[in-house]
Amino acid sequence: MQSKISIEFVEKTFPPKNGKEAFTAVADLNLNVREGEFLTIVGPSGCGKSTLLDLIGGLTTPTKGRILINEKEVTGPGLDRAIVFQQYALYPWRTALQNVLFGLEAKGIAKQERIQQAKYYMDLVGLSQFHDHYPHELSGGMKQRVAIARGLAYDPEVLLMDEPFAALDTQTRENLQEELLHIWRKTKKTIIFITHGIDEAVYLGERIVVLTGNPGKVKTIIDNQSSSRWSDSDFRSSTEFSTIRHEVWRALHEKTYQAAHI
Ligand code: ADP
Ligand code: MG
Repeated sequence: MQSKISIEFVEKTFPPKNGKEAFTAVADLNLNVREGEFLTIVGPSGCGKSTLLDLIGGLTTPTKGRILINEKEVTGPGLDRAIVFQQYALYPWRTALQNVLFGLEAKGIAKQERIQQAKYYMDLVGLSQFHDHYPHELSGGMKQRVAIARGLAYDPEVLLMDEPFAALDTQTRENLQEELLHIWRKTKKTIIFITHGIDEAVYLGERIVVLTGNPGKVKTIIDNQSSSRWSDSDFRSSTEFSTIRHEVWRALHEKTYQAAHI
């Protein structure tokens, strides 16, 4: 089956800077993402998660290897991908609705249609009452909802999310996780979601990619298509959840052999 995204032998080495040596953040990384898949990538801080997401987003280019989307090599950012970052990258001088409209302006859609679409996505993330609020008038969770609506509004094929809920309190985070799953089921987008939280990775991902660092590469991929994910029951409290959670935990804690730097 053709992959939506193919990451082939990708390496990213940052050049030496300010007296610091060159640094290889990810190396020999291979990964295939299916069309319409919700993939979570979990790994410790500094293991190269953001570097990998930036590479897929086309914000940086690999030093070795290549990334294909629909069999075409990524050479820069594109309207086929939207990125949602950890910190709400909203324009403070624009209202919530105007922030969502931003991506649509870039796409050259007629004004009336733009407004209609932006409102649809504001509604989808539960913010229909907050069109005219400025970012400073919104809570952290609401700002992140606006960022998600903006990402979805220009209808990208792939949604890239870099720890988007990490700065939020547990309750808000869990609400947004649930909403994101609803949105994914409704829109059938391909989603790559990065997190350092095991629970978040297991709750959201159909497959969970475990990364290890120094340099960042895929340690293992865990399948998470259990039936209880689809039922209305409380998946987080199920036995399947704890089993998979433990599997991810073990993969993250297993010692990998590394040549000693002595
Ligand atoms: P994560 O998102 O998993 O926390 P990052 O991808 O941000 O990790 O970083 C991986 C490693 O690459 C870290 O050691 C970080 O210091 C290094 N790194 C990231 N960006 C740069 C850069 N522009 N120049 C040099 N090193 C970088
Ligand atoms: Mg990061």
